[in-house]
Amino acid sequence: MTQSNLISHVIRKEVLAMSAYKVADATGLVKLDAMENPYSWPEAIKLKWLELLKDCPLNRYPDPDAKTLVQTLKQLTQIPDQFEMLLGNGSDEIIQLLLMALPEASAVLAPAPGFVMYKQISDSLGLKYIGVPLLTDSFDLDLPAMLEAIEQHQPRVIFLAYPNNPTANLFNEAAIVEIIKASPGLVIIDEAYAPFASASFLDQLDCYGNLLVMRTVSKLGLAGLRLGYLMGRPEIIEQLNKIRLPYNINSLTQMSAVFALSNKTFFDEQTKMICTERGLVLNALNELNGITPFPSAANFILFKTPENTATDIFLSIKKQGVLIKNMAGQGGVLTDCLRVTIGKPEENRAFLEALKCSLRELN
Ligand SMILES: *Cc1c(COP(=O)(O)O)cnc(C)c1O
Repeated sequence: MTQSNLISHVIRKEVLAMSAYKVADATGLVKLDAMENPYSWPEAIKLKWLELLKDCPLNRYPDPDAKTLVQTLKQLTQIPDQFEMLLGNGSDEIIQLLLMALPEASAVLAPAPGFVMYKQISDSLGLKYIGVPLLTDSFDLDLPAMLEAIEQHQPRVIFLAYPNNPTANLFNEAAIVEIIKASPGLVIIDEAYAPFASASFLDQLDCYGNLLVMRTVSKLGLAGLRLGYLMGRPEIIEQLNKIRLPYNINSLTQMSAVFALSNKTFFDEQTKMICTERGLVLNALNELNGITPFPSAANFILFKTPENTATDIFLSIKKQGVLIKNMAGQGGVLTDCLRVTIGKPEENRAFLEALKCSLRELN
C-alpha cells in the first residue's frame, strides 16, 4: 500500500478534507491578533505565585475533579448551588466534548460569521454545520432566518457567542430568548468576552432547561493556562463528564488559576484599562477616512477598510511591526474587514500609526 492510500484508508474523509487551524507567527511583532490581555502581573503577585508553585506535586496526577478550582469559579460567577460546572482545557475543549456527545451526523447551528472552532470541530466529527448569516449592517441575529433554520435542521446544539467573535457585538437579548425557546436541543451562550461586556445569560440558567453558559479565563488574562468552564443543569453536565478525559486540567493550571482568580483585583484594573483604550481606539478609527469600525462589547474591534484593500493594509501594518488579524479570507460580510485586539496604549498607538501610514500608501 502506498503512503497516500494508507492515509486515505485510515483517516476519516471529513478529516482529510479539513485544513489545520493556523496560528500566525508573531515573533518580533506587536501582537494584537488573538484577544489576549497585553499586561503581565504585578511583581509581588508573581513572587507569591512562584512560592506556591514550588510545592506543586508534579509527581502526582492532578485532582480529576479540580474541586478547589471549581469552588473558586463557582464563587466568582455566583452561580446558584443547583447548577454544575464542567472544566475544559480551554473552552475549545468544551466545544469538542459537547459535539463528541452528539449522535452521528447531527446538525449544529450558529450565526455566521462566528467563532471558527464551532465549524472546525463540527467538521472534524462529521456533523452537519449550519451557519445562518447575521444581518449585514448591524451584525445582529436575523431572528426569522434563525427560527426557520432551527425548524428545518432541528439542530441538537446551537452556539451563540455573546459578545460575538469576530463582530464584537452583543446580540439582541429578546432574539436569543426566542431562539432558546424554539430550540429542540441545547443552546450554548459562549461568554468568552464576559469580562468586557455588561451583559450575561448566567442569571437566566434557571429559566430554561436547555440553556448552558460557557466562559473561559483566556481573554481575562490567562490564555496560557488553557481553562474554560461550562455551567448548567447537573443532568447535562453529568453526561458530558463521561467523555471528558479524567486529568484534562493539569496541576499547574489548577493551582495557578485558583491563585490568580483569588487575587483578581489586578485583572479588574487591567480590564478597566482595556475598556478605556477600546473607546479611544474606536474614536480614532472613526476619524480615519475610509475606515468603518463596528461597536465593540469585547476586547477587540472589527473594522471595514476600502473595497479590496484589506489584505494590502494588513500586510503593510505587519511590515510596520504590528500583527492584527486579516478577516478577508473568510469572505462574505468580512471580505473587507480586519480585526484588532486592544493592547497597551503604546501598542494601540503603534497600530493606529501603522494603519494611517498604510492608508497613505494606498493613495
Ligand atoms: C477565544 C474564544 C474561545 C476559546 O477560548 P479558549 O478558552 O481559549 O479555548 C471560545 N469562544 C469564543 C467566542 C472565543 O472568541
